Amino acid sequence: MPECLREGYRTAYQPYVAAPALLYIDDAVEGGLIATAGGGRMLGAVGLVLAVAIGVTVLAGRRLVRPIRDLTGAAQRMEAGERDARVEVNGRDDVARLGAAFNSMATSLEHTEAQRRAMVSDIAHELRTPLTTLRGYLEAAQDGVVAIDAAFIASLLDESVLVQRLVDDLQQLALADAGQLHVHPEPLDAVELATQVATAHGARAAAAGVALSVEAPSPVAVEADPARLRQALGNLVANALHYTPAGGHICIRVDSRNTMVALSVTDTGEGIPAEHLPRIFERFYRADPSRSRDTGGSGLGLAITRSLIEAHGGHVAVQSTLAEGSNFTIHLPRVSPVSPHR
Ligand code: ADP
Repeated sequence: MPECLREGYRTAYQPYVAAPALLYIDDAVEGGLIATAGGGRMLGAVGLVLAVAIGVTVLAGRRLVRPIRDLTGAAQRMEAGERDARVEVNGRDDVARLGAAFNSMATSLEHTEAQRRAMVSDIAHELRTPLTTLRGYLEAAQDGVVAIDAAFIASLLDESVLVQRLVDDLQQLALADAGQLHVHPEPLDAVELATQVATAHGARAAAAGVALSVEAPSPVAVEADPARLRQALGNLVANALHYTPAGGHICIRVDSRNTMVALSVTDTGEGIPAEHLPRIFERFYRADPSRSRDTGGSGLGLAITRSLIEAHGGHVAVQSTLAEGSNFTIHLPRVSPVSPHR
């Protein structure tokens, strides 16, 4: 062993070993005792640390990568049209939260997709009836089976009015969905507006033998878009007229409650079965499909009323008892939260 190496070992061990022991350091180095024992232990320790580090890294990597790989797979399956693709969520860490967010997004997409499909099928169904009737009339006229007189033209006109109304209603709901159903609130007297609606429906009520009245304490100030509010209240009164037999009574009440104003329409009509009430504001939902279609209802009136009132920051509620009558109430904030400049 070269002298410089021996000297190096001596200097290195001097602070740690007793002076007499340094006399034997040459033998220990030459016998390979120091280098072999220390080197082996050191190598062993380094090896162990490395192995543990690699093991932990691989395990942690797998734990992190597996859910991300599952997420990627689920997203690809969704893209390929598998709308019910979901991931398993374990734990509460960030990756688990990402998985939960993906699942709830997928559920909401699936719901929207189902609604869209139902809507398209409902629209097709609603358009088919008046269009089939129109075609029947026109084919009969072409074959010379019916005379083209004023009554015939009036029938054609009735059917085309139905189609037009359905398309107008759909357009209004599409605007509401797009957040573009603009309201222009202004200060107005809710009692005066209710009286206008009652007057507009007065002739129909009289013809149907139904009493129509307005009950209101005094002028009730509210901020609302007069045209939109007239339309919403008008829909409720038109429905009440549809479903109230001759001899019945419809009452429009205006009430002021703290920060809210309530406009209610109560009828003594046929009422709505309890099981239908939760769905009555849905598009195309009808408690009695055959009957309301016969009377020209599109099943969109209440959905439109609700979107008009929600655009004002208000809501609509219903209470009904079968064979006794129904009560629909519009609740509006007295001061509109919607900017008049919207
Ligand atoms: P429609 O055009 O069919 O009247 P709406 O959305 O206005 O559609 O109403 C949905 C359904 O709610 C109606 O088909 C009817 O079954 C029920 N309905 C609404 N208003 C009344 C009422 N005042 N009395 C009884 N049933 C009602």
